[in-house]
Amino acid sequence: MVDITLAEAWIQAIATAIDRHKDHLTQLDSAIGDADHGFNMHRGFSAARIALDGLDAATVGAVFVKTGITLVSSVGGASGPLYGTVFRGMGGALDVPRADAGQFAHALAVGLERVQKLGAAQPGDKTMIDAYLPALADFRQQAEHGADFATAADAAARAALDGMEATTPLRARKGRASYLGARSIGHQDPGAASTALIFRALADVVRAA
Ligand code: ADP
Ligand code: MG
Repeated sequence: MVDITLAEAWIQAIATAIDRHKDHLTQLDSAIGDADHGFNMHRGFSAARIALDGLDAATVGAVFVKTGITLVSSVGGASGPLYGTVFRGMGGALDVPRADAGQFAHALAVGLERVQKLGAAQPGDKTMIDAYLPALADFRQQAEHGADFATAADAAARAALDGMEATTPLRARKGRASYLGARSIGHQDPGAASTALIFRALADVVRAA
């Protein structure tokens, strides 16, 4: 179960994780992009952290909509609108004060659908989708089998990590890295790495609650 407090704690935990891994994300982006992914994510989630202060949300969705709007408006790089769209989509699907694993799985699916509509990335294109899709699949599978939220979130975090690692041999077909063509092969996708951090943060806050 995720309530408003836990939803806010997740966004705070993402901001903390990004803080810690900012240089690593930037390093990944310097190999196949423009070396700003850590900066972009840090800027976005620091702004989200501040925006949630005193929001007094009445639903879980309100927390995510506010996060999404803040990411879109505060980040210059592609990841701002992309993650912003994920959180806005999730938020729109969670007009409730608390969500169980099934409802959360549905919201994750809406977030994925929206970001794929915006960015047109397919699995295997070497983007954040390659971590997000397996995370959603495992979260949903656990939820459908009656697992509790913590178990589902942990499965999602592990799947996102595997998905992130599996981007290394791929050739980028979307975003800046695609300009490199075959030279993008052999490098891990920065957006898949930040998605793995986001799902790890979810599992950690749920476990600690
Ligand atoms: P920018 O590419 O504008 O510098 P960032 O460096 O912050 O933005 O983010 C780059 C990440 O965004 C990539 O590693 C990739 O995972 C993700 N990305 C780029 N384009 C797309 C897309 N069309 N769909 C999904 N994710 C994408
Ligand atoms: Mg970049």
